[in-house]
Amino acid sequence: MTPFNIAPFTGKELTYIKQAVDNRKICGDGEFTMRCKAWLEEKTGTSEALLTTSCTHALEMAALLADIQPGDEIIMPSFTFVSTADAFVLRGAQIVFVDIRPDTMNIDENLIEAAITEKTKAIVPVHYAGVGCEMDTIMELARLHNLYVIEDAAQGIMSTYKGKPLGTIGEFGCFSFHETKNFSMGEGGALLIRELQFKERAEILREKGTNRSKFFRGEVDKYTWCDMGSSYLPSDINAAYLWAQLEVADEITKDRMKTWKMYDDAFRGWSHLDVPVIPPECEHNAHMYYIKVKDLEERTNLIAYLLERDIKAVFHYVPLHSAQAGRKYGRFHGEDVHTTRESERLLRLPLYYHLPEEETGRIIECVKKFFA
Ligand SMILES: *Cc1c(COP(=O)(O)O)cnc(C)c1O
Repeated sequence: MTPFNIAPFTGKELTYIKQAVDNRKICGDGEFTMRCKAWLEEKTGTSEALLTTSCTHALEMAALLADIQPGDEIIMPSFTFVSTADAFVLRGAQIVFVDIRPDTMNIDENLIEAAITEKTKAIVPVHYAGVGCEMDTIMELARLHNLYVIEDAAQGIMSTYKGKPLGTIGEFGCFSFHETKNFSMGEGGALLIRELQFKERAEILREKGTNRSKFFRGEVDKYTWCDMGSSYLPSDINAAYLWAQLEVADEITKDRMKTWKMYDDAFRGWSHLDVPVIPPECEHNAHMYYIKVKDLEERTNLIAYLLERDIKAVFHYVPLHSAQAGRKYGRFHGEDVHTTRESERLLRLPLYYHLPEEETGRIIECVKKFFA
């Protein structure tokens, strides 16, 4: 069976985990957490990066830092993972979904302005498949209407928009290190903070509402309860696993890109299906290769055909506005021209670190045979 995904493993993970254990410091913000943090800050150029227990939690922190209040409206695409919305629903916000562009599957930047009301507090672009949203337009709208931009860059580490790393353009950016992402720590993520004015409160929120981070740096002589907060810092054991991948991030990306290109060379320009569109201003990280077939029925048949040949291809994201919670906590602004239709056509092909070339070749052959 060719699985859809295998968690990335470089070979150094157990050595580093043992080192973390030997340090006798396995809680948050130990040696490996600090290494990952330094790497993230250097690699992206952001002012502050905080390792978190998930991208979901990084989004929750961003919602708290942006001071989202009950009744505030948050604009985002409906074609996304539930966490993008959940983080704001937890603060009592109303979600306003906007249609996507059929080419990138990202929020249609030209439909955002019409959805803005007096209650709008933030725009949450989701960089689907690690391909950047049209950030210049989104940042300009945010400036005009005084809104926060919180990037769901869960899939976007190592990708850029006009040379800027995804996750560093808005006030806040959120990465995921879940096992299905390019680099993993099992469950984990990071919050990127553009303006240093948010750093102190972010540290407090992440440390149960205390100033323990300052205490550990020797900046205060005791730590106390300062604000609301939660526990958003991961164990150093998880960070040790992640460090083994960040160390060889370029190699992992190169390996994924090789698979991505093999698929792309085989399918681009082929009349049976559509393939991902990468705008010229975007550099992507080979997070995902998807194809788009004619319709839902053809996709169902193709999934079954591939499964019979031991290939696991998957789809995802039932559009949030059509889900039970989406109807309760949100509304779709404008018409759903592309969101539902495109999501029903989309199929993700297996893509992971060290997927053998022969396997990729076999998957391509099987897809081609299906259409023959
Ligand atoms: C994976 C993902 C998340 C959630 O990440 P976790 O680290 O599992 O919380 C959120 N948004 C998008 C777009 C994702 O792909």
